[in-house]
Amino acid sequence: MENNSDQLVALRHSMSHVMAEAVLSIYPQAKIAIGPAIDNGFYYDFDLPEALKEEDLKEIRKKMKKIISGNYSFEKRVVSRAEALKMFSGQPYKLELINELPGDEQITIYTQNTFIDLCRGPHVEKTGSLAADGFKLLSIAGAYWRGDEKKQMLTRIYGTAWQSREELNDYLDHLKEIEKRDHRTLGKELDLYSTHENAGAGLIYWHPKGARIRSIIEDFWRREHFRNGYELVYTPHIGRSWLWQTSGHLDFYSESMYAPLSIDDVDYYLKPMNCPFHIMIYKSSLRSYRELPFRWAELGTVYRYERSGVLHGLLRVRGFTQDDAHIICTPEQIEDEILKVLRFSLFIWRSFGFKEIKAYLATAPEKYVGDEQMWDQATESLKKAIAEESLEYEMDEGGGVFYGPKIDLKIKDALGREWQMTTIQFDFNLPERFDMTYMAADGSVKRPYMVHRALLGSLERFFGVLIEHYGGAFPVWLAPVQAAVIPVQWPGKP
Ligand SMILES: [Zn+2]
Ligand SMILES: [Zn+2]
Repeated sequence: MENNSDQLVALRHSMSHVMAEAVLSIYPQAKIAIGPAIDNGFYYDFDLPEALKEEDLKEIRKKMKKIISGNYSFEKRVVSRAEALKMFSGQPYKLELINELPGDEQITIYTQNTFIDLCRGPHVEKTGSLAADGFKLLSIAGAYWRGDEKKQMLTRIYGTAWQSREELNDYLDHLKEIEKRDHRTLGKELDLYSTHENAGAGLIYWHPKGARIRSIIEDFWRREHFRNGYELVYTPHIGRSWLWQTSGHLDFYSESMYAPLSIDDVDYYLKPMNCPFHIMIYKSSLRSYRELPFRWAELGTVYRYERSGVLHGLLRVRGFTQDDAHIICTPEQIEDEILKVLRFSLFIWRSFGFKEIKAYLATAPEKYVGDEQMWDQATESLKKAIAEESLEYEMDEGGGVFYGPKIDLKIKDALGREWQMTTIQFDFNLPERFDMTYMAADGSVKRPYMVHRALLGSLERFFGVLIEHYGGAFPVWLAPVQAAVIPVQWPGKP
């Protein structure tokens, strides 16, 4: 139930000003940072003389109600740079922002009652048009100034705001439902998986019941892949630096890779992706057009660095198993292959009970590799497949990565939340870097097309989404416990 209309955005952003005024009236020494509207709500970041406690939110809320009932206007003014610097002289974060504004930029400030903010707007006209019983302060969190870990840690207060008390209550019910279904809670209650900070953060331990579900998913996944003309491959977990140098990962992806381990004085890296390994299989012999297309799938476990602050249950981890595959084919085969892979994705999602699926098509960015004609053909094949399957879709013109256009599929869960899961991604880069070739029908040597695709994405993340979608009550074919046997003790027997 996301609702972020322009009107609500203005309302929520105005609410953040009201909250900042309330905080300043209680803590006059507070330094204010920024306060945008976000999905379903708003926040403001403060540098406070003392740590806030949950109880403090009550007082802030009371002050906010007072400001709302005061019905103050949000007044806009354009000021000179000198004026702005003077106005915010006690506010170092605002000064930093002002000093970074380009010389010709118009500086606007908004005032309501006693509060002045450096801001572009928009706001509602008067504080009185905000619903005094339509907002709630939800939580307090730490946030670095400008999201930079090397900068000051600030206090962020999150709130939600709506046009009426009814809307607010609906939203709070929705939040409760989300909390009830949180996969971290259910994962523990149902004994599905665990994580262990002391044994390594962001790494998942699948317990027998979770592993039972995973093996059912994997069996289904393998069976359907064979049925759809895929072959399975298995590849190593580590690869020599030569491999990652050739693929370009060491140049463009190294911040997501772990430090190498040394074997016989040669550097080996844990794999962040499976692609280079599948390419090695391709290159293990001369290839002819007669063999193509190859559809090679692997449940490949990869390791990628994530900052500890962003790790989140099964959803954001440091080691995970992708349901990966690479399609390697001739240019003539690509249209058909793309349609097949899209159909297959939809079949998989529907099998797991997800009916609402939306496609996002991203096209060439300004700088890209490969020639224009290849990009056009690839993009065209993606568009055709979407049309063929009558999928709802959105275009992201220029939003693709440099090595090829792609389709992402987002699925909606039982609570109406969208999750980005499937990616079908062209790659005009790796075939070039690894000099992949095949012998064409006319005897010439040609470069094949390569498509990466992961349908579920990763088994860990998929499992997290699945737990929350079903609220832990899995459909019978996935349920780890289908019937419980209750042991009955006869009297007199031990
Ligand atoms: Zn504002
Ligand atoms: Zn790949």
